[in-house]
Amino acid sequence: MNEMQYQVDLMNAMNEKLKSDQKMMEMIIETSTSAFLYVNMETNEVRTLGRWDEYFDFAVKKFNDLQQIAYAIADDYREEFRNFANIERSGDERAVITVRSSDKRKWVECETNVIYDSHGSPVDKVIRFKDVTLLRDQHEELKYMAFNDSMTGLYNRNYFIRCMSEFLDRAERDGREVAVMFVDIDDFKSINDGMGLAIGDEIVMSFAHFLSGFSSDNCIVSHFNGDKYCMAIYDPCGTYGVDRIYRTIRERTRQPFVTSDGREIYIRVTAGVAMYPDASSGVLELINYAEIVSNRAKDAGKDSIQYFDSEVLQEFLYNINIENKLRVAVHDMAFQMYYQPQFDAATGALRGMEALIRWKDPDEGMISPALFIPLAEKNGTIVPIGQWVIEDTIRTYSEWKKKYDRDFILSINVSAIQYKREEFVNGIISVLEKYEMNPRDLELEITETALIDNYRDIGNKLSTLRDYGIRISMDDFGTGYSSLSYLKSLPIDTLKIDKSFVDTVLQDDNTNIIIESIMGMVQRLGLEIVAEGVETEEQLEYLRGINCDNIQGYLLGRPQSKEDVEVLLRQ
Ligand code: C2E
Ligand code: CA
Ligand code: CA
Repeated sequence: MNEMQYQVDLMNAMNEKLKSDQKMMEMIIETSTSAFLYVNMETNEVRTLGRWDEYFDFAVKKFNDLQQIAYAIADDYREEFRNFANIERSGDERAVITVRSSDKRKWVECETNVIYDSHGSPVDKVIRFKDVTLLRDQHEELKYMAFNDSMTGLYNRNYFIRCMSEFLDRAERDGREVAVMFVDIDDFKSINDGMGLAIGDEIVMSFAHFLSGFSSDNCIVSHFNGDKYCMAIYDPCGTYGVDRIYRTIRERTRQPFVTSDGREIYIRVTAGVAMYPDASSGVLELINYAEIVSNRAKDAGKDSIQYFDSEVLQEFLYNINIENKLRVAVHDMAFQMYYQPQFDAATGALRGMEALIRWKDPDEGMISPALFIPLAEKNGTIVPIGQWVIEDTIRTYSEWKKKYDRDFILSINVSAIQYKREEFVNGIISVLEKYEMNPRDLELEITETALIDNYRDIGNKLSTLRDYGIRISMDDFGTGYSSLSYLKSLPIDTLKIDKSFVDTVLQDDNTNIIIESIMGMVQRLGLEIVAEGVETEEQLEYLRGINCDNIQGYLLGRPQSKEDVEVLLRQ
């Protein structure tokens, strides 16, 4: 304001003083980076001073030219500027408005000052225009970075949380609901892996762009990370009803997303919904619940929507309970190994034993490894558990070898997390050496899904293990990607046909065709086959008939304790 006042005082001087003074004043003004507009209200004289040409691409010579200034102002601000520049208005005004100067857009701060005569009538008016584009851009950029996801331009998680808190406050006051909808692209990993990260990014952005169409005062759309988005809908109903939104999203996914190189890519998405206040009244908890149900919907088959309800909450709480108990169990290593026999389909001879972990909790009873192994993988306890399994089973095997001198293979399930560890290969080898077990008697099982993230790294480790003499078995074949190219390029000895295949074998001709063709191909590759989960004589007969090598299942032997196995080994 001081500069302004100074310059206005100078202007006054210009009116009242001699021409020589005026010259000096002009020099001062010309050194400023601002533009000035001077209006004498009595004579209607107008003058522009300073860097006028840098702000406007027209000259203002007479009173009527003043109109043009308003047209140089961006539409949204024109009215504001007219009010502000209103000659009749009294008092000092300051405002920040945009000015469109030729085709460039500038943020301009306008400041005005009016001089009154002794009767209180305005005499002179000066408006100063100052370019604040740089300052403003920096401010906007900072604000943008703090609130937006740099990839998609959608709000980021932090800002989403902030907006959601406001929604919840408002909803509490007005007795309304708020829906939180977690949206996740299905099998995004395979898009990334199959087409490259750049295409994956394009999909993330295109889908974000599509979702941004829902944003409104009552709907916030955000991008959390990767293929995960989250929306909050205030008072969801009508077009903004959760089902409607989901249906619109789903319809969109029936059309391809076209990438910059012209490829058409179809995606599917899964959504999870948690409602305020039903599910929770906490922002983070609502988001968490929405994500939990979306993950559950994924397990249940993807391309769908799932709502949070008390059953999901129970399951969630149960899992938390189990996870807590699991930490204690790991601390005490309160596990036991069971062994399930595998038999040669033709001769009935014992081919091997698959080691399966068991955990009996004092309160919960037996807890299935199908439940706790995934939890252990999530919280990292699979590492000590896995180490214990390796050591315990190899030690047991050596004892059996010494006692019963029987030839059979020990199969151990190894999780992807274990394979990923640097020391995994050497760890296994040192345990084998410690218990003097022949590596040829050991088989490590791996699932296809374990290979997806780390194909090369795990592939290399498998090769090292196999060079050492250890057998490698592909578990659950037929449930994952079932890529036969894996089989050719990986060092694999054995293929385990999943129970789900075996189950449908006698009911479904398609399964027969698949199993038989896999069998043919696999045998040509020189791999050994183990069929899992064989429960009936019919299945056994069928598998024998198509020359399946080995059989594992309840029909011929359930997983059993060490003591029970010894009974079998004595025979
Ligand atoms: P898996 O490796 O596919 O193991 C086979 C599962 O099928 C076992 O379940 C076994 O008891 C069951 N099974 C075998 N024959 C039959 C049958 O005829 N009918 C039926 N209905 N089931 C049969 P289990 O022991 O509950 O283990 C579940 C999963 O937990 C295993 O699936 C494996 O993925 C994992 N797991 C078990 N032990 C370990 C372990 O020591 N380490 C790791 N990383 N995972 C393990
Ligand atoms: Ca297995
Ligand atoms: Ca299996």
